[in-house]
Amino acid sequence: MTEFPTLEEVVRKHRIERCSVSSVNEAQQWGRCLGCDFESQPVPLRGINWDQLQFEIAAFHVSEEWEEACMVRTPEDLDSLPEESVINDAHGCTAKKYKRNTWFWIGTEDAWEPDLPALLLTNPDWSKP
Ligand SMILES: [Zn+2]
Repeated sequence: MTEFPTLEEVVRKHRIERCSVSSVNEAQQWGRCLGCDFESQPVPLRGINWDQLQFEIAAFHVSEEWEEACMVRTPEDLDSLPEESVINDAHGCTAKKYKRNTWFWIGTEDAWEPDLPALLLTNPDWSKP
């Protein structure tokens, strides 16, 4: 069964450090993740503010990792989600889980079986301390 991490856990795991090379022939910098094998495309060393670039690389990488971490791929994962969870199913339809393991279209009383993979949008466990 898949664990669905919080955004904080994803941000903490995927921190970006600066890498650079400076020689006669090349002067480049790029970001490398400390939590996985991600590396950004290299950019020139001169004329680019690293602090700004680091934020942009981290935002890009964390958003990709966050979306991946929120993918619901199996019926078991879907069943494991707590009540009040909200998903977008494979067709982009939004549903909320209510009692008896039943999903309803948002704003309706129509029960519905989501098609996988789905993207987990909210999980009530995320707001627990
Ligand atoms: Zn990473």
